[in-house]
Amino acid sequence: MHRYVVVLSLALQIAAPPRAAVAQTPRTVAVTNVTLIDGTGAEPQSAMTVLIANGRIVDVFPTGSQALPEGTSVRDLPGRFVIPGLIDAHVHVATDPAGRDSNAVAFLQGALRGGVTSVRDMAGDVFALAPIARRSREAGADIPRVYFAAVMAGPTFFEDPRTRSAAHGGTPGRVPWLRAMTDTTDIALAVREAKATGATGLKVYADLAPALVARITTEAHTQGMKVWSHAMIYPTRPSEAILAGVDVLSHALLLFWEGVRDAPARYHQSVTRSAYDSVDAGGGAMRALFARMRERGTVLDATLFISSRLETSPPGTSGLVDPSRAVRWMYDVVRSAHEAGVTVAAGTDGMMPGVPDGVPNIHRELELLVTRAGFTPLEAIRAATLNGARALGQEGDLGSIVKGKIADLVVLRADPCDNIRNTTSIEGVIRDGVLVWRNRAR
Ligand SMILES: [Zn+2]
Repeated sequence: MHRYVVVLSLALQIAAPPRAAVAQTPRTVAVTNVTLIDGTGAEPQSAMTVLIANGRIVDVFPTGSQALPEGTSVRDLPGRFVIPGLIDAHVHVATDPAGRDSNAVAFLQGALRGGVTSVRDMAGDVFALAPIARRSREAGADIPRVYFAAVMAGPTFFEDPRTRSAAHGGTPGRVPWLRAMTDTTDIALAVREAKATGATGLKVYADLAPALVARITTEAHTQGMKVWSHAMIYPTRPSEAILAGVDVLSHALLLFWEGVRDAPARYHQSVTRSAYDSVDAGGGAMRALFARMRERGTVLDATLFISSRLETSPPGTSGLVDPSRAVRWMYDVVRSAHEAGVTVAAGTDGMMPGVPDGVPNIHRELELLVTRAGFTPLEAIRAATLNGARALGQEGDLGSIVKGKIADLVVLRADPCDNIRNTTSIEGVIRDGVLVWRNRAR
């Protein structure tokens, strides 16, 4: 009997994982006595417990209403507010024309400290993005999860000089991450190759006719990829993109073209001579569009932050007759979309200010949704959490604080419902159930 035990324990020693792995053995953690804002848009609940094990939320209940499992490590945080990790639905982290992108990781680390736990990268240098995305999926990584896009557009789009450096010596339009699509392209092969780069979605960008957008979208969905479209694909209009079945439309400013009879047929002709007065942001064309988006579940990635900066761009550089008028139109159209029940995601199209340690611009996007587009703070938070997860196609795992989802949480010192700017009062960031950053400065 003794001998048997000894043999068994030796066997266990041999089979035991290395010590570091033992130290990382996931344990159960309870965050208690917090006010919970779960990301669904539901009213905040005070004195709640979030129970976490193996990186996932295993239960959510009023503190004290259930016994905690034995050995649970308790973080009692009375007076704090917990929201889901923020999702920036529109970033470009790797667009250095020289292809180095040495700052990408530093900026992502800064974004994580600013409460951003996932991002949707809407096109960049795939050679830089693919390894970053792989690293970002590791549990407890020090950067947000990165989901990125491969670009598809019509051949004329690739005359754009920006595409040359991103092709890495290949011909823009003829590499899997920058693919020129025509009626004779083998779409199944093009989608397969795009997926093989590690991309989660296809960015359907410009110079594509509606029938081709529809064929690409059908094939992408068959192969399990998302289709992340610009709102105007020239000549394909927003309503035609929705009918084609795309999952997300980016840039509320571009919804304008839905109401213009002679919309440009190509991206490079897209300068508008209109001052945006010709289309009513809450009028019939827009209402019909929003009804269709709501029916199909199409997400609007509004990108208020980047477009708001058109107002301060030097005269003549924005391509707009009256940038301020256009930006006001954009706020109005997002307000109308929201009132019509369209799912709006929060994407900045400019993740970080100039320095990695600055406050990520997602907080500015939240503020604009509240102050300019009529969202309540809870609705804005849902846009930057659950709706962002929908844009990524990750709503089963991310975006809200409910049983079963990945434990990505942000702990705030001040109530974001009192003032949306309080989303910056970050005390700690939890990714995969691990406290990846704690703000000791406050
Ligand atoms: Zn963009």
